Parts: sequence; structure tokens; C-alpha cells
Amino acid sequence: MTAPANSTTAQPRVNLLGLSLRQMEQFFLEIGEKKFRAQQVLKWIHHAGVIDIEEMTNLGKSLREKLLAIAEIRPPEIVSQHDSGDGTRKWIIRVDEGGLVETVLIPEAGRATLCVSSQVGCSLDCSFCSTGKQGFQRDLSAAEIIGQVWLAIKSYDAFRPGASRVVSNVVMMGMGEPLLNFDNVVAAMDLMLEDLAYGLSKRRVTLSTSGVVPALDRLAEVSEVSLAISLHAPTDELRDQLVPINRKYPIAMLLQSARNYIDAQRDKKRVVTVEYTLIAGVNDQLEHARGLATLLKDYPCKINLIPFNAFPQSGYERPSGNAVSRFWQVLVDAGFVVTVRTTRGDDIDAACGQLVGQVVDRTKRSERYRATADIQAIQVS
Ligand code: SAH
Ligand code: SF4
Repeated sequence: MTAPANSTTAQPRVNLLGLSLRQMEQFFLEIGEKKFRAQQVLKWIHHAGVIDIEEMTNLGKSLREKLLAIAEIRPPEIVSQHDSGDGTRKWIIRVDEGGLVETVLIPEAGRATLCVSSQVGCSLDCSFCSTGKQGFQRDLSAAEIIGQVWLAIKSYDAFRPGASRVVSNVVMMGMGEPLLNFDNVVAAMDLMLEDLAYGLSKRRVTLSTSGVVPALDRLAEVSEVSLAISLHAPTDELRDQLVPINRKYPIAMLLQSARNYIDAQRDKKRVVTVEYTLIAGVNDQLEHARGLATLLKDYPCKINLIPFNAFPQSGYERPSGNAVSRFWQVLVDAGFVVTVRTTRGDDIDAACGQLVGQVVDRTKRSERYRATADIQAIQVS
């Protein structure tokens, strides 16, 4: 493997792992090389899984030596891997400067969805979210974001020629708010779609946002991935409490921006996925379902209901199966396409931000959780 960047050198090495095709071409032009080298290097990294520059035999010896001096290909480090009885696999990943994030692979019939993190923690502090409770630490680099895809494939030894595809779908629904780390997320998503890298169809890469409207407006200009918005309430009054960014960008603004996003796509059949986390006694009553049906009438969407994943000291509870069914029925009767997210990987706390939440807690880095006595110790080694 390439030697890690020498911390004593003034100029840090460029991590080629996170460069999109265009950025990689720019990089080679800047170092006085031909543009087509970018294609070769992308294929080595993302098709063959090779991160040792010495192994990139078609680059020629002198170019390899030049690259070794100024560049590196460095994925983030896996701290631990957790396999659930239902096939879900979760990794705790350490990124530069010591932050921890999670990546989860959820196999389902005919596909496998990788849930990717975009930030260490999150500044938006949604009231029901374990990641939000950790506060914001930092943005992930593009290399750390696409590195999660690379690591997942590597972990199944699936860069081998002829290996079947491990990751068929990617959702930017791990830790963090992707639109608050715009440039790095866009570069990483470009690589997900790029044929010289992972070649996923734009329908199979989904960005989920809690509603950073100006950034969503910008996204429409540079990306064609699928869009999910985290609504969670039919009224501003309730959403203000659950998703604080609603006070800045209320529901009507978010719905309009999301509609503009899909209207800007060439593919006119696309719809917005509306995510709605159901929390017992808070937003799961029939009045909320009816309110949601009215709010979204004629809106080009499908609805994804997510029963709340409990975590210690959240103060919230998951609704009963009956409550979820009743809510679902109102929406189905109103003509919506509605899915209910089944809970996967419960035995490994695979839901958004949960395991890191507990690890961070154990290492006493979370002020807000420090006083809690009953946090389950999770083995991370
Ligand atoms: N920051 C982005 C993406 C990450 S969260 C966003 O908020 O959309 C991915 C989804 O999981 C969001 O819809 C979020 O609201 C939801 N979520 C967060 N914590 C949850 C919990 N404890 N139970 C159920 N869903 C949760
Ligand atoms: Fe951040 Fe999304 Fe969690 Fe809200 S739900 S705190 S936006 S990660």
C-alpha cells in the first residue's frame, strides 16, 4: 500500500481516491501529464480496487514514481465490522483526525443498498436523531465518502474480475446532512455514477436532505441523483420542533425546491421520496396522516414511513405495528405509493448513527450523553 502522507512535509499528498473524472484529469494536466491518465487511474482504483500506485503497471515507471512523491490513494480505516443475523453488515470507520462514522450495507431481494455517511456528527440537531445529538465535528472529504463504497466492496473481496456486484444502490442517509457538505458529496456521487468508477444508474443513488433549500436549489444544477426529503410532519408548527432547520426553510419552501429539482431532470417520470419517521404520540396520529395526505395531494412523490429507531435517552418511542398500519392505510386510501421501512440489523444497531452514538458515549466525548448510566457497552474491537 502507498505510504501514508508524511505529516512533516509542508505539502500534503493529494488523495486520488476522492477525485472525480474531471478533477483527476485536471490533476494530471497540472502535473504536466496527459489527460487520459485519469481514466487509467480511476479504473485501477474503482474497478480493480488497487490502491498501491506501484501496481498500476500501465502508467510507466517514471509516472508511478512521480505520483508516489505527490499523491496517495488512502481509504478510511475500518475500526470494526458487525454482521447481523439478517445479512446486514455495518462498519465503524475512522476518518482523519479521529472521527468515527458508520456505513451500513443492507442486502434485500435482488439488490444491496449501501447507506453512506457524509459528515462526522451533524449540526442540524433533529430532535429524534442520534447523529444530531453528537453535534457537528467535521465534513468528510470526498475520499472518505467514496471510500465507504470502496471499503464495502473490498470487504466482500468483490473487486475480483467476475465477482458479482456487492453494492447496487447507494443512499446518502448515514450520518450527517449531505447538502451541508456540498462539494465533497457531489464529487463522491459523481464517482458513484461514473462508468470508469462504480457506474450506478442515477436512479440508484439517492441523496436525503432535511431541507437545506438553497443547497438543494444548487444541486439541481449539478446532479441528477434521486432525491429524498425528510419531512416528518404535516405542519410547520410540528416540524419546527422535530427538524429545527424548518424554522429557516419551512415546508412550503422545501416542497417547492424539491419539485423544482425533479422538474429540472431530463427524466420526467421521477418523483421525490418523502421520508416520514413515525414517533409514537408525536406525529403518528390519524390527524397527522390526513394532514400529510392533504399537504401532498397532487405532489409528485412516494412516501417512505420509517418507524422511529429508539436509542438511549431519546425521549421518544417507536409506534406499535398497528399504529404504523393505520397511518399507512390513510395514505394508501388517499392514493399514495407508500412503503414502510423494515427494521434491519437491529441486533447490531444498524439504524442511523446509533452505534457510533454509543461508542462516542463510551469514550465520553458526548457531553449530552455523559450522565447516562444505562448505555449498553458495545464491543468495538
Ligand atoms: N441528514 C439527512 C440524511 C441522514 S438521516 C436527512 O436528515 O435526511 C436519514 C434519515 O433517517 C432521515 O430521514 C432521518 O430523519 C431519519 N432518522 C434519523 N434518526 C432516526 C431515528 N432515530 N429513527 C428513524 N429515522 C431516523
Ligand atoms: Fe442531521 Fe439528518 Fe440527523 Fe437531522 S436527521 S440531525 S439532518 S443527520
